[in-house]
This record gives sequence, structure tokens and C-alpha cells, in this order.
Amino acid sequence: MKQEKSQIVHVGDLEVIVTWKRVKNVNFRIGSDGKARMSVPLYISRKQAEDLIRNHATWFESRLNKRVRQQMESPRTWTTGELLHIWGTLTPLHVLPHHECSSPCALKDGELIVRDEGNAQKRAAAVETWLQQQLFERITEILPACEQVVDRRATHITIRRMKTRWGSCTTSTGRIRMNTALAECPPACTQTVLIHELCHLRVRNHGPQFKALMDLCDPGWRAAQRWLDEHPPSVREFAS
Ligand SMILES: [Zn+2]
Repeated sequence: MKQEKSQIVHVGDLEVIVTWKRVKNVNFRIGSDGKARMSVPLYISRKQAEDLIRNHATWFESRLNKRVRQQMESPRTWTTGELLHIWGTLTPLHVLPHHECSSPCALKDGELIVRDEGNAQKRAAAVETWLQQQLFERITEILPACEQVVDRRATHITIRRMKTRWGSCTTSTGRIRMNTALAECPPACTQTVLIHELCHLRVRNHGPQFKALMDLCDPGWRAAQRWLDEHPPSVREFAS
């Protein structure tokens, strides 16, 4: 007699956890952890399971999209299964008891492991600090090259969550502020915002001269800018 088992099956962009069980019917669902799941009778082959997923791809995608939409619209609770964008990739949160975590927040095997500090506010703060660190590391990595290409230096860079702007710059002092939410966006966005603010140290407005400078310093800026315009930080704001 075949044994019950679970396997992760990839079909196109879809990742589905398939469980072979002593059941008669095929069942599709989105688990409380935000992952697509399917249970099938033991006699179903892996190839047949893949076909079933392929035939239900639209169903899975619409349910997953609906879940993401619902979640983005409702206040966060910072509990297991909640989804968060990290560098543009939707990542489930996994809250673990204090004694099982050595650090307050860490990315492991595609999940953001958050130590349970007792309440949602503390978990939110742990994630926020972690996102700031991620962004800080990324900026530290790309800053020298960005400064070189623009031929201007930032005197000081601060990272903080802003409701309406991705970045800002005080041209008189050379101080640049970057939005923590950039750590939720595709990585190219951070570079574009950083170069954008550095370019303001040469051109204050957003006129043709500024755009020409951006074209020169960051040829991919238009695509990143379009993405940022379509996903304003206010929509992605943390409700904690
Ligand atoms: Zn600007």
C-alpha cells in the first residue's frame, strides 16, 4: 500500500504543495500559510498531479492574487502566513516562539522568520528594523558606484519610512533620505531612487536636463520609475 506523502510541485510560476492521501477526491486550496496546496488520491501520478495543477492554474492564480489584495487592504497582524514583499518577492511570515529564534527576524528558506516578542507591534518593529538593515546593506553596496557615475557625493544617508516619497534630498547639505519601503520593491528601484537623489545634487528640478542625466547615469530608470509609480508607498504602508 502506498504511503501518504507531500511534495512541492512547480508548474510554470506556480508552486503547489501536493499531498497524496487516502482520499477519493482532488482538493485545491490556499493554506493558512498563504501557500497553494492540493491533495490527491494515492493512485494519482506526479505527472497527473502536474496536469491537474496546469488545468487549475487560473484558479490558483486568482485565489493567490485575491489573498494578496485582501491582505494588502486589511491591517497587518504580523502573524504566520501573512505575506510581505521582500525585494519584490512575496514572502510568507512565520512567527516562532522566542526560544526557537536566535534573532528577532531572519530570512530562511523563503520565509521571514519572526521571533514572537509578545505582541503585533513588537513583531512589526522587528520586521521594520530588519527591512531597514536590508536596505542599508544594499545602499552601502551600490553607493560608491552610484556616486561615481553621478559625480556627486551624499554627505549623509538616512533610512526611514515615508508615506508619499521614495526618497528625498536636501541639495544645500547633500543629505539624502531613502524610504524603508524600497526593501519591499524590486532591487533595481533602490538604485534608481538613489541615483535620482544624487542627480538632484547636480540638477534640482525634474526638467529635460535632469532626465538626460538620469538616462546617462541609470539607463534602466524609466522601468523602475514606472514600477514605483504604480506601487506608491502609501498603498504599501505598514499598519502596525
Ligand atoms: Zn526628484
